[in-house]
Amino acid sequence: MRVGIGYDIHRLVEGRRLILGGVEIPHTKGLLGHSDADALLHAVADALLGAAALGDIGTHFPDFDPQWKDADSQKILAAVVEMLRRKGLRPVSVDCNIIAQKPKLAPYIPAMRDNIARLCGLDISRVSVKARTNEGLGEIGRGEAIACQCVALVEE
Ligand code: MG
Repeated sequence: MRVGIGYDIHRLVEGRRLILGGVEIPHTKGLLGHSDADALLHAVADALLGAAALGDIGTHFPDFDPQWKDADSQKILAAVVEMLRRKGLRPVSVDCNIIAQKPKLAPYIPAMRDNIARLCGLDISRVSVKARTNEGLGEIGRGEAIACQCVALVEE
């Protein structure tokens, strides 16, 4: 068994869609980034890469590469799972936190878990996504950014 940790944060800006865990969420703002800026899937991908000691998402999917411009981050996570597979590794479980002041995310969590489970080849019972606010503190609390954390377990 090997464990990895992932973290990501993106700015919330007007004129962008809000996509987390591959789910589009109605909101006045969306996350800014080169790809679709899905901070949750980026944190999961980074945790899996970390468990495999395969570097990080920024190295493998650089933000100057036109291939990943506005890309669906589900493709990034699928590519990471395939990188692990080629190393003889497979995901066992993932546990994630989303830290967002707004909007309310609870209604969308089942669909996020479903997407992550499918992309990682896991049963949904092995995929946890939790959402919380930042108690109004700092840039996340002011609604200027959303951050995500993930811990992933991988086995050989
Ligand atoms: Mg990111």
